[in-house]
Amino acid sequence: MPKSIKMSPKHGLNPAMTKCFWCGKEDGIALMGRLPHDEKAPDTIIAGYAPCKECQEHRKEGITLIGVLTEQPADGRPAIAEGLYPTGSWAVISEHAVNRLFTPDVRKSILDAKGAMIPENILKNISSHITPKEEGDTAHE
Ligand SMILES: [Zn+2]
Repeated sequence: MPKSIKMSPKHGLNPAMTKCFWCGKEDGIALMGRLPHDEKAPDTIIAGYAPCKECQEHRKEGITLIGVLTEQPADGRPAIAEGLYPTGSWAVISEHAVNRLFTPDVRKSILDAKGAMIPENILKNISSHITPKEEGDTAHE
């Protein structure tokens, strides 16, 4: 059973809009209830790294590369995988592009996983290589 929300005496259910980390669009609502010191919930929060529906659909179109850093950014965002912090940059590329950009030893695992987390500087480099766009390649920054 999920824990029930404790109503805030001042702010009731204390709603906040949730924002997709990847595209920044508002994609839902979080009912924060009573927060410490009975604070008002912020207008928008990023609830996690799960992509919104729109981003999910977009990622199905190809192979998703996610830019990561090994040091935690100053905003204190949580790691997406052990010791890896997403920058918010990502790109969807075609299998053809994977074959062209990556060495044979890593291609298969990238294709099998339908994506990879890669250092931000390499993603930036790849993003610059996929303009002008090939069909199925898009970069988000
Ligand atoms: Zn999104």
